[in-house]
Amino acid sequence: MSSQMKTEILQGDLYINGKWVNSPEQSYFESLNPATGELVGICAASTVEQVDEAVAAADEAFSKWKNTPIPQRASYLMKASQLFEARKEELARVMTMEMGKVLTESLGEVGVVIATAQYMAGEGRRLFGETVPAGFTDRNVRMVREPLGVTACITPWNFPVALASYKIFSALIAGNTVVWKPASEVALSAKIFVEILAETGLPAGVVNLITGSGSRVGRRFADHPDVKVISFTGSTEVGQQLAEMSSKTLKRISLELGGKNAVIVLKDADLDKAADGIVKSAFTTTGQRCTAASRVIVERAVKERLVQKVVELTKSMKIGNGLEEGIQVGPLVNDDQLHTVEEYVRTAIKEGGKMVSGGQRVQELGGYYYQPTIIENVKPNDTIAQEEIFGPVLAIIEVDSYEEAMEVNNGTVYGLSTSIYTESLHYANRAAREAVSGLVYINNGTSNAEMGVAFGGMKMSGNGHREVSHHAFDVMTEWKSIYTNY
Ligand code: NAP
Repeated sequence: MSSQMKTEILQGDLYINGKWVNSPEQSYFESLNPATGELVGICAASTVEQVDEAVAAADEAFSKWKNTPIPQRASYLMKASQLFEARKEELARVMTMEMGKVLTESLGEVGVVIATAQYMAGEGRRLFGETVPAGFTDRNVRMVREPLGVTACITPWNFPVALASYKIFSALIAGNTVVWKPASEVALSAKIFVEILAETGLPAGVVNLITGSGSRVGRRFADHPDVKVISFTGSTEVGQQLAEMSSKTLKRISLELGGKNAVIVLKDADLDKAADGIVKSAFTTTGQRCTAASRVIVERAVKERLVQKVVELTKSMKIGNGLEEGIQVGPLVNDDQLHTVEEYVRTAIKEGGKMVSGGQRVQELGGYYYQPTIIENVKPNDTIAQEEIFGPVLAIIEVDSYEEAMEVNNGTVYGLSTSIYTESLHYANRAAREAVSGLVYINNGTSNAEMGVAFGGMKMSGNGHREVSHHAFDVMTEWKSIYTNY
């Protein structure tokens, strides 16, 4: 790391009931820079008792917060959006240092946080209820949305702050209070996020931050009777465990989970546009996106030409420390992720895949770097065509028709994002109807979601809830029906 990039060692604390606190057990964990292996900061690992304290503080704050008029709740979000703007660069740099994504992506992610704060502030004014024609004379009937109470938000490391903003801002505007547990890899980014919320003057207990191992502190959320909602984004495996544990207290749980997203390329497609969309979807964030494209399903007639274009674009990508200018692919988040990627690539070759590009660590850079990798001759049921890799690895699968392409696309347990490149109105519309996935893109890669549009997956990519849009309130509120006889 060049000396100009060195910073002081940061300190990650917990935020409970409006106060920054430490670990009473003096238990800490390190946040390491995946680009260099250097220490970014030391973070407090909270105890289960501290989780309980945070939940108690959020529960205590709930009755006042839910009765705070919505425009006032919205004003905290609007203030937060200005403060995020002011600390954008600082927050983005810490995100890049903690989990490796390139600085331009981190800056873009803080932009998403700002947009979410503004969007949710506006949505507050549209938390409409319904009136229903009464079945009796001199009676009116209405239904109103009510907040549920303490909302536990659990988030992964790949989008350290955007996913938190989806959950926390929709919870707050609806009138819920929050306890947030970010992934340990990005605890310092989370601290800055909560510092900003604290600076808006939010009342004590409305937002609380807990850090430390998910299996230790995250579990307590599931067991806790006063946690009324869990909003989780992460792996399918952990999501399943949480759903099972939460069933005992019948709490509401929203799960946004893994994906095995595909780009379908038909023989009539604009191959330059398709190659560009594929490379952006596959290798942005070093392939560590839930919506990353990890399969290309291409009609045989254009496979050679498409792969040539994809390889050409991939080889021109600059790999390195995301803080440096011009870098397009940063490191993987940690050593475990690097080993996972290596293992999947070995398995792919053993099962008959043919390496066309990449396939190696980038030793000379020192951190957890892996070349963007393209493997062809992959069969639909091969391991790399079925399992989420969460790294820069793209499998090329050849097919003979649209129908076969869609069967392959739908032939995994996941259903998050599908893309199709075609000039045919017929096939574009059929894909929109036939893809079993929560997101469908036509002539665009798999990863380009917009504010205000429902975000989430089908099958094992989620449990049917959606974030970002006003449909988030189906998670964050419940209905009350009121009958008035007069
Ligand atoms: P993960 O291992 O499931 O962890 C996600 C969060 O859960 C972290 O905060 C983690 O804490 C916590 N956790 C781990 N074990 C837990 C347990 N037993 N009980 C409660 N909490 C627990 O996922 P990840 O590796 O961070 O993220 C990658 C995954 O997220 C991928 O599968 C990706 O597809 C998915 N993802 C999905 C979306 C979507 O919207 N569908 C978006 C982004 C990512 P610690 O790590 O600190 O222990």
